[in-house]
Amino acid sequence: MRLEELIEVYDKIEGTTKRIEMTCYLADLIKKTPKNLLEKVINLTLGQLYPPFTGVEIGVAEKLAMKALAISAGVSEKMVEEEYGKIGDLGETAKKILSRKAQLSLFSEPLTIERVYEGFEKMARATGQGAQDIKIRILTSLFNDANPQEAKFIARFVIGKLRLGIADMTILDALAVAFGGSKEVREYIERAYNLCSDIGKVARVLAEEGIDRIKKFRISIGNPIRPMLAERLTSAEEILEKLNGVAFIEYKYDGIRIQVHVRNGDVKLFSRRLENITSQFPDVAKNIRDAIIAREAIIEGEGVAVNPDTGEMLPFQMVAHRRGRKYDVEEVAKELPVVFFAFDVLYVDGVDYTLTPLLKRRETLTKIVRETDWVRISTHRIARTSDDLEKYMSEAVSNGCEGIMCKSIQNDSIYQAGARGFLWIKYKRSYKGELADTLDLVAIGAFYGKGKRAGSYGALLMAAYDEEEDRFCSICKLGSGFTDEDLQKLPEIFKPYNIPHKHARVNTNMEADVWFIPKIVLEVKADEITLSPLHTCGYGIIKKDAGLALRFPRLVSFRIDKSPEQATTIKEVIEMYYSQKKVVTEAKERIVEET
Ligand code: ATP
Repeated sequence: MRLEELIEVYDKIEGTTKRIEMTCYLADLIKKTPKNLLEKVINLTLGQLYPPFTGVEIGVAEKLAMKALAISAGVSEKMVEEEYGKIGDLGETAKKILSRKAQLSLFSEPLTIERVYEGFEKMARATGQGAQDIKIRILTSLFNDANPQEAKFIARFVIGKLRLGIADMTILDALAVAFGGSKEVREYIERAYNLCSDIGKVARVLAEEGIDRIKKFRISIGNPIRPMLAERLTSAEEILEKLNGVAFIEYKYDGIRIQVHVRNGDVKLFSRRLENITSQFPDVAKNIRDAIIAREAIIEGEGVAVNPDTGEMLPFQMVAHRRGRKYDVEEVAKELPVVFFAFDVLYVDGVDYTLTPLLKRRETLTKIVRETDWVRISTHRIARTSDDLEKYMSEAVSNGCEGIMCKSIQNDSIYQAGARGFLWIKYKRSYKGELADTLDLVAIGAFYGKGKRAGSYGALLMAAYDEEEDRFCSICKLGSGFTDEDLQKLPEIFKPYNIPHKHARVNTNMEADVWFIPKIVLEVKADEITLSPLHTCGYGIIKKDAGLALRFPRLVSFRIDKSPEQATTIKEVIEMYYSQKKVVTEAKERIVEET
């Protein structure tokens, strides 16, 4: 298939912000793509060669791409750099520079998707000495044969800035439209995706083996399952009511979520964002290998850093020190050892447990985990009254936890892969005059700093996730809570995500000085959620001409374990707004009663 055909569709997609139109263009593309190429086309469209959990990245730096471009166009690197400086987008720069060459008709063989993908793959696999040369050679030859539009795509793709604004959910919609169109088909496709986190694979199975195969889609060890998520409530009574009067209470540990895949003693650890983090936690992998009594298993739990001298649990920020680390892993593991608290089991020796009710899953978990000092099963209790629930809450908090997780044990208490629902409810430390919970927000832009902050950013523009529209809506400017050191580093941290215009999936009326690809998630604490005409989060839902904004927002931490789609949703912000109003009203009523 010609690359040109793909680019035509990308151009149409770039020209719209309407999800429904994007879906139609994608569905048409899926229909006309040969079966054996669909997996590749889907991955290319998502700006990747393989799903993120494989860790395969093309690894082309901007400098290298500019060099290849200069060679192909027969111009100096300096000239490419200057053009790029003016345009601010390497794709557009490539298009412009190669247009001049195109007029001279110097490009030759038409590019096929197969060839381009193969080239990208070779670049990704090139490592060690000589890798740079290999990458330059391949990229130059692709630019040589690309027309200007294709060059724009190639340049953006290799530096990881494809920016089509398409997320996984839109591709699932398009697959459903292309393969039947019914709601039922969409549900089966989504379940398959939730079980393997690999849309390309789902698309291939659909194309080659049909929907019946998707209906029977099976879990595979090594493919992370998309995590089940919790709703939140702020009173014990509401929680018990939602859970039909009985709650399976577990400590809510303040660490990082880890999904463990075990096969014949080989252990892989996946983060909440489904990245393979095994090499960052070799101690945890070893401890789990020693504790699991099964040939194959997938279990989930929370990794919590502990003080090596006292065994006391340390907060999330401490375990976060160990995330993303490539060097000194063993040393840091000694300083900050991690205890793994298992809380769920999803698969054991060929049996899928995701549709099994919670109590049965817990029973299975206790059978396959031999507890040690480093691998434990989460502490649990059953609560039938709000007094009990509050008691367990205080117990959990005094034992160093964030609060409790209250889980349903009804017959329908399955593991809802990839969904947030009321089968799990989180209940965190009580309301203390501030918003009870923090929000995880996505940085979508920044404002330049003044005075002491000149040369860096003065504030970031933050957004909540709009699940319905699959986009990010602004909610506040965030300038507090950063250390001086953090502040200095901000432009560097965000550099890989800089883009010259507002991103297609961003919805805001604010004019930032710098725009970002929505990627980095920050945990933010605030005093209150207020109505504001400036921000688009929940616009028009509570009041006609107003959205929701945060009052006195401040940074708590970088949530490197979360992807932007796992940020706090607009629906959650609205719920938090209502429950905050309820707490304030109740407090006011109490004061009136007491006086
Ligand atoms: P938060 O930011 O409040 O930790 P979250 O958005 O990361 O929440 P939620 O699904 O809303 O994720 O809350 C559940 C999270 O709590 C899980 O992702 C997991 O990391 C953590 N957790 C700690 N203890 C437990 C437990 N016993 N059962 C389930 N999740 C737990």
